Amino acid sequence: MVYTPSEARYEKMEYARSGASGLRLPKLSLGLWHNFGGVDTLENSRALARRAFDLGITHFDLANNYGPPPGSAEETFGQLMRSDFMPYRDELIIATKAGYRMWEGPYGERGSRKSMLASLDQSLKRLGLDYVDIFYSHRYDADTPLEETMAALDQAVRQGKALYVGISNYNADKTKEALNILRRLGTPCLIHQAHYSMFERRLEHGLQQVLEEGGVGSIAYSPLARGLLTDRYLHNIPADSRAASGSVFLKPDDITEEKINKSRSLYSLARQRGQSLAQMALAWTLRHGRVTSALIGASKPEQIEDNVAALGHSEFTQEELDIIDQILGN
Ligand code: NDP
Repeated sequence: MVYTPSEARYEKMEYARSGASGLRLPKLSLGLWHNFGGVDTLENSRALARRAFDLGITHFDLANNYGPPPGSAEETFGQLMRSDFMPYRDELIIATKAGYRMWEGPYGERGSRKSMLASLDQSLKRLGLDYVDIFYSHRYDADTPLEETMAALDQAVRQGKALYVGISNYNADKTKEALNILRRLGTPCLIHQAHYSMFERRLEHGLQQVLEEGGVGSIAYSPLARGLLTDRYLHNIPADSRAASGSVFLKPDDITEEKINKSRSLYSLARQRGQSLAQMALAWTLRHGRVTSALIGASKPEQIEDNVAALGHSEFTQEELDIIDQILGN
């Protein structure tokens, strides 16, 4: 059936400028790391993307290697662009990345100009697009001069294959260096993508400050701790969950008693606030307005609905923040 997006799609979502740039990103963005691969059903992937866009999520995050198999998430999104979203291309911010292993041989990963630009060309083919909105260096590569990796990002923009550039998983020091190089090249860094949630707070130890000083946006990946900061695992490991799917990134062993006890206490607080645990975890990630966007994943359209509803209730009292810190043991 022909897709007609909801006319109300811009009514509820909030948008924030990414750092000092003119680009506004939705407070929630959708990542396609899981549930968009060749192993997943196209119908569910389509339902997720449609639901997200209908709710004002304009930003879709990919990487060359998302799947499985690697590359298949971009292929799926390319299919969805052709079938559903091409008329809305100018309403979308589509990101991809290069840096992790993608093909055989010495150029199939890391940060050389050869690897980065070849990977971007492959991504554009899989996506069926002329350009992506954001092209990221997915990780810092100590074996390549940072100047070379940043020059590859700059070149992607000059070639018209990307509108903006970003970096991901760079520590505070390397981020500072990268920002300076990109500024000198005339392609300022739009955004930094880092792991950030109640369970993973390294961003707070210097990196966020570097980003603010540099006028760079901050997008937090896995803000729900891959599902641990939701009601999914409070009592068991559901058969349809990521932890039961054989994912190497969330194994049953990662669902420790300690984590679940914390999640249960957080769940009680969320209920007192009249929210789901996922909603409270997202509101917390976005508190103080320091993080531009929380980059969620979802396996079901209802999860996206639940998450977007977090935006209606994102304030915390100092007492609540203190209770959360106590629960987390900080
Ligand atoms: P999350 O922490 O948001 O976890 C998503 C999972 O949480 C879902 O798959 C689902 O689990 C569960 N979930 C989501 N919403 C709800 C809800 N309302 N109620 C109950 N359960 C819910 O993020 P991801 O780990 O998926 O990462 C998000 C994105 O971040 C990725 O797609 C990718 O784009 C990016 N990323 C980037 C990285 C990088 O190196 N730059 C690394 C990792 C991620 P279930 O599937 O079990 O239903």
